[in-house]
Amino acid sequence: MFDVNEIRKDFPILSRKVNGQPLVYLDNAATTQKPQQVIDCIVDYYSNYNANIHRGVHSLSQEATDAYEGARKKIQTHFNIANAHEVIFTAGATESINLVANGFTEILKKGDELIVSGLEHHSNIVPWQMLCERTGAILKVLPIHEDGSLKMDVFKTLLSEKTKLVFVNHISNALGTINPIKEIIELTHQNGGAVLIDGAQACSHVRPDLAALDCDFYVTSAHKMCGPTGVGMLYGKEKWLEKLPPYQGGGEMIAEVTFEKTTYAGLPHKFEAGTPNISGGIAFGAAIDYLNDIGFEAIAEHENELLNYATQQLLSIKGLKIYGTSAEKTSVISFNIEGIHPYDIGTIVDKLGIAVRTGHHCAQPIMNFYKIPGTVRASFAFYNTKKEIDILVAAVKKAHMMLS
Ligand SMILES: *Cc1c(COP(=O)(O)O)cnc(C)c1O
Repeated sequence: MFDVNEIRKDFPILSRKVNGQPLVYLDNAATTQKPQQVIDCIVDYYSNYNANIHRGVHSLSQEATDAYEGARKKIQTHFNIANAHEVIFTAGATESINLVANGFTEILKKGDELIVSGLEHHSNIVPWQMLCERTGAILKVLPIHEDGSLKMDVFKTLLSEKTKLVFVNHISNALGTINPIKEIIELTHQNGGAVLIDGAQACSHVRPDLAALDCDFYVTSAHKMCGPTGVGMLYGKEKWLEKLPPYQGGGEMIAEVTFEKTTYAGLPHKFEAGTPNISGGIAFGAAIDYLNDIGFEAIAEHENELLNYATQQLLSIKGLKIYGTSAEKTSVISFNIEGIHPYDIGTIVDKLGIAVRTGHHCAQPIMNFYKIPGTVRASFAFYNTKKEIDILVAAVKKAHMMLS
């Protein structure tokens, strides 16, 4: 049984005060809070079996290696990935995308085309622009509708045999839109291109089945799904990971080194140079266990209830406009009040203990589309409550009164 009050007890930070008020944490799209189970997992590693992995024959190193590789297996199972060596540990979604963009430098030719969606986070735009500068490939943009959904009819006209890569997020961090990635993957494959899905925002809300999706790459960050910062994953189909060159050189990623020539290790180690974030990787696995114990169906049900309730309540405020109104969306509400700067609303509600995000949410092209400087964004997690939404709505009303 899903009991939000029981769940909240797992998160020590949720009982603290901010500016004298109980914390109302509604910035989950930027990072989620961490349950005690994940925090304990990190403490346990450093307290009891801290050692470098893959190297020592000694027992501690074995224990650490087993836990780290065990986490890779958990990720493999969770995302329904065929082989554990198709799971690459990275520092996060951003690094995963850079790894792939870097790898395509030698593969792309001048005039090849890439398609980026108009809903992307800067992390899924800038590395590709840099790749285009290196290779002379052309970046095309898949535009969005007023409601924040992708113009799929335009997508079909952009695709051609020149299209080498398409990148799109699974769920938009700025608007909450859930994108039709299955259709995008199928259409791109029909034209011979490859697809990278940015799942950073999706994985705390849904459990992607990567075998069913059949995407070429999928990236995510642990910290957006109750895990620690500084660790994430790159899933790549074996055939792509074999084809891409190593991203960084160093220890762990080699088979043999002489001054004349170095041969690289096989997957996944080829892409994992240097000592990794060992405790982070293990805690990523613990976060996945934690979310699965609650269950993604229960999470979705609760978050949808919060989304519907908050949408209704916020829209009762005069002059308030919500950006991103697609029927397919998760628990993110981006809004503005006519005549008021989002930053001013954010500042006032912070004084009342409420954490929301204001600004462009690392997605300036979306703000340009709506011709606004930014929005106030409230993003809900499964540990948020209707009572917290009432507190938010009262605070926004108060800000509205003070500022108009
Ligand atoms: C957070 C986020 C990123 C970046 O993730 P990092 O953890 O900062 O690397 C990329 N895309 C989306 C959709 C995100 O929400």
